[in-house]
Amino acid sequence: MLAEGFSVALPTETVYGLAADALSPAACARIFEAKDRPLSDPLIVHIPSLDWLDRLVVASPLALTLAEKFWPGPLTLVLPRKIMVPDIVTAGQETVAVRMSSHPIFQKVVQNFAKPLAAPSANRFGRISPTTAAHVLSELDGRIGLILDGGPCTHGIESTIVHVLDDRLQILRPGPITEDDLRIFANVFHGPAGVATPGGLMSHYAPRTKLVIEENPTPHGPRNGLLSWTRNGTGFYQTEFLSQSNNLQEAATRLYGAMRRLDGAGLDLIIAEALPESGIGVAIMERLRKAAA
Ligand code: AMP
Ligand code: MG
Repeated sequence: MLAEGFSVALPTETVYGLAADALSPAACARIFEAKDRPLSDPLIVHIPSLDWLDRLVVASPLALTLAEKFWPGPLTLVLPRKIMVPDIVTAGQETVAVRMSSHPIFQKVVQNFAKPLAAPSANRFGRISPTTAAHVLSELDGRIGLILDGGPCTHGIESTIVHVLDDRLQILRPGPITEDDLRIFANVFHGPAGVATPGGLMSHYAPRTKLVIEENPTPHGPRNGLLSWTRNGTGFYQTEFLSQSNNLQEAATRLYGAMRRLDGAGLDLIIAEALPESGIGVAIMERLRKAAA
């Protein structure tokens, strides 16, 4: 199906992706169509092997160091594009986002395909990313030809995206690879993006039900749901626990599934308990703020 230019949903270690031939503009157009994604939002390109890096982008020594250290894994590098990358993939920008997935099924598919796959998250634009095949089905049923079911994703939130400059890194989207992990290799800075990052839109990863974040959640009404980090849920209509052992990694893995269950529970408000902003907690809180925006 990929060879014929169709899109296929595949498991990755972060979330499920909707993959298509990254070198075929027509195949990539199918991704945008299935997701209702605006053409201004660029796609991440997943490469089958490291030798593809040089063909697609201008890889600085720092980029190569990061690729060797973190790939295959949940780190996306934004680098200057080469001519081979179609405009539809970069949304017309001069950079392209590249990564190499560690998921054994994804790896097998992309290596057999032997070309890069463009693969954004397999959800409708602006909605909660899918972490199981069933989530993909509920988002894209009737719009795509195939879902490969690889079970639940291990990380559960999207890759860390960094813009790689000559001697420093800008985190465009926090994720499983944390600032502490990256600071070993280069200076890391925040601040206004030097490149457009539509994934940085204020409202993103959003449930349909209104969501607010509170330090000490208490119900405001009879049909409130709780997304809990430490609370027991007394007084709430429904509670989803992110990690009963207070493990941030487990919370990341469970986050989107829990948000989906609360969103489907007929609630009038979801109250998310604030999590500690350390390690992957930074990425979890960023997703919650976007869900609340
Ligand atoms: P998704 O895979 O659905 O999480 O979406 C991919 C996200 O990667 C986009 O929303 C962008 O924020 C980001 N991205 C992709 N390509 C680029 C690029 N060339 N420059 C900056 N950000 C990018
Ligand atoms: Mg996405």
